[in-house]
Amino acid sequence: MTRTLVTGGAGFIGSHLCRRLLAEGHDVICLDNFFTGTRDNILELLDNKRFELVRHDITESILIETDQIFHFACPASPVHYQYNPVKTIKTNVMGTLNMLGLAKRVHARILLASTSEVYGDPIEHPQRETYWGNVNPIGVRSCYDEGKRVAETLTMNYYYQNKVDVKIIRIFNTYGPRMVLNDGRVVSNFIVQALRGEDVTLYGEGQQTRSFCYVDDLVNGIYAMMNKDDFTGPVNLGNPNEITVKELAERIIKMTGSKSKIVYRELPKDDPTRRKPDISLAKEKLGWQPAITLETGLRQTIEDFKNRV
Ligand code: NAD
Ligand code: UDP
Repeated sequence: MTRTLVTGGAGFIGSHLCRRLLAEGHDVICLDNFFTGTRDNILELLDNKRFELVRHDITESILIETDQIFHFACPASPVHYQYNPVKTIKTNVMGTLNMLGLAKRVHARILLASTSEVYGDPIEHPQRETYWGNVNPIGVRSCYDEGKRVAETLTMNYYYQNKVDVKIIRIFNTYGPRMVLNDGRVVSNFIVQALRGEDVTLYGEGQQTRSFCYVDDLVNGIYAMMNKDDFTGPVNLGNPNEITVKELAERIIKMTGSKSKIVYRELPKDDPTRRKPDISLAKEKLGWQPAITLETGLRQTIEDFKNRV
């Protein structure tokens, strides 16, 4: 049994992670300010004696005794993180500093949830961890992608200077049950639109690519990384199965049996044209690779959305 702290534990990925940690027999403290997370995401966990919920904003410091910190607090959808960009930067910089300071003080291992967005609009394809990225430092996404790049910098410097036991994962687009219905992300948008029979909104020509990883696969990778000694990362965690956004729209329309039509909307600024992880490092160091196909993952996600739409 390990005492674990999950920041952002009431969010999409965090709530899946809390369940996995409880299932593995650990104590879980879920810390969240409920900006994008909800009590509903963790409702049935509230009765579990090994689960505690702390309402707190990580831009303020906090002292909690714990052995492991899974640092996931940060809005992840472009709509959410651009809603209050200064707050997003504060969460990434001050929030990550507070969590690293906590890890140092209580001698906890800390895992930072970074992102494929650190690669920006990538010139190297697929992206390996050695690629430094192509990021617009003053663009609309910078509060998030530059924020996460600073978070990585802070994390590695606490490791170099203070020997804090750190880990960095770079998560690629992840989807699954409990995604927020109106978070503006592509999988949730398309499923909601298809189920409601509304137009499916393709941004640009829909030729940009992404690689979608089912949340259970991701959680396996997160767990493996946290429990791997002598490896800080950064390590990519994602599914290398790359598809265009247009193909995704067509698939979701077909799978939902929807009569929705595809409509074209303006491409958001700085939208990366392609993204696909090279996961050789995760395979080698963690023995990890995703197992769930897009077909299976989407079917389960659509079922969850049907109950909520
Ligand atoms: P999410 O928005 O569902 O979850 C984020 C959680 O953090 C929410 O519960 C929110 O309330 C909480 N939070 C935000 N700011 C906070 C603050 N200042 N103090 C305390 N809590 C705060 O997003 P998600 O998809 O679950 O993403 C979780 C983490 O994974 C994020 O760090 C994100 O950057 C990273 N990530 C996600 C993806 C993805 O595809 N979902 C991809 C790359 C990286
Ligand atoms: N996208 C789209 N229609 C939507 C929402 C998103 O075509 O209704 C596109 C978006 O422009 C991007 C891709 O889907 O190219 C993934 O967008 P998302 O916001 O899910 O993630 P990110 O851009 O952060 O990878």
